[in-house]
Amino acid sequence: MSILSIENLRKDYGKVQALKGVSFDVPKGTVFGILGPNGSGKTTMLGIITDILRPTSGSYRLFDEDPTEKHRNQIGTFLETPNFYHYLSGERNLRIAAAIKGRGAEDIPRVLEMVNLTQRKDSRFSTYSLGMKQRLAIASCLLGNPEVMILDEPTNGLDPVGIAEIRELIKRLHREGKTIIMASHLLDEVEKVCSHVAILKKGTLVATGDVNEILVSEDVVEVGAADVPALRAAIEKFDGPSQYKDNGNLVQLFFPVGTADLERINQYCFSQGVVLNNLSLKKKSLESKFMELTN
Ligand code: ADP
Ligand code: MG
Repeated sequence: MSILSIENLRKDYGKVQALKGVSFDVPKGTVFGILGPNGSGKTTMLGIITDILRPTSGSYRLFDEDPTEKHRNQIGTFLETPNFYHYLSGERNLRIAAAIKGRGAEDIPRVLEMVNLTQRKDSRFSTYSLGMKQRLAIASCLLGNPEVMILDEPTNGLDPVGIAEIRELIKRLHREGKTIIMASHLLDEVEKVCSHVAILKKGTLVATGDVNEILVSEDVVEVGAADVPALRAAIEKFDGPSQYKDNGNLVQLFFPVGTADLERINQYCFSQGVVLNNLSLKKKSLESKFMELTN
C-alpha cells in the first residue's frame, strides 16, 4: 500500500515555479526522506500534502484514496515549531494541543515518555532547551497515535545531542511501524535515518527509491588512449560498469563501490587493440554524487 502518491504536482508562487511536476510514491512502513538544498520545494510539497497550500495543478492520494479529513486524522504533522504557551508546562501545552485537535488527551503520558520528557513535564515551556521544545512538538504530533508522521527539517537548529535524540526517536517510531515522511537538506541525515528518498532540485524530482540504491558511492575508473574513438568503441562493448561518460580525452566508467577491476579493464582494452595511456581509480563520495544530482 502507498501512504502517499503524488502525481505531477505543480506549484507556482507568481513567477516562481516551486514544484514543476513532481511524482513519487511513499510505501507504507518507510522513513521517506525528501532531500534537496534550500529552495528546492520541500516545504511547499509538505504544505500541499497537509492541505495548507493548494497545488497549481496535479494531485495526490493518501492511503490509496482521495484525501479526506478521515485520512488526515491518521497523520501527525510537524511543519514548524508550533506556538506553545511559554508560561505553561510541557504537559499543559499538550493538553491544550489535544483539546484543539480533539484527540489524544489520554495519550499524554505515553507521548511524553516517547520523547523522553516525562521528567520535565511540569517545567515551563520557556525553560526548555531547543531540543526539548522540538521533542515536545513531536510529542504533540504523536497525540492520538497517528500511523503517519510528516516532519519538516526536524533537526534544524539543534546541537549534536539534540540532533541525535531526534534521529533516535524517528528510528524508534519507524520500528514501531509508523511511516515517516521528512524533509531534510542534509544528505548525511537522510543516509542515517531514512529507508527511502526522493531528491528534489529546483522543484524537479531527480531521483527516488531505496536509499541503499540511490545514495551509494561509486568507483569511477578513468581510461585514456591515443585513439579515443577506438577506446570509446571498445568500452561500449565492455561488460560491468553501470555507466560511461566522456570527459575530454578520457572515458569514465562507473562501478558499484568496490567492484572496479583495473587489471580486467586493461586486459580487455588491450585485447580490443586499444593500448591505454591512462588508467586510474577514483572513489566518488556520496557528497559529490549528491552535488552532481542537485547542482
Ligand atoms: P525548501 O523547503 O526546499 O527550502 P520551499 O518550498 O520553501 O523550499 O521553496 C521553494 C521555492 O518557492 C523557493 O524558491 C522559495 O523562495 C519559493 N517560495 C516558497 N514560499 C513562497 C511564497 N509564499 N511566496 C513566494 N515564493 C515562495
Ligand atoms: Mg523548507
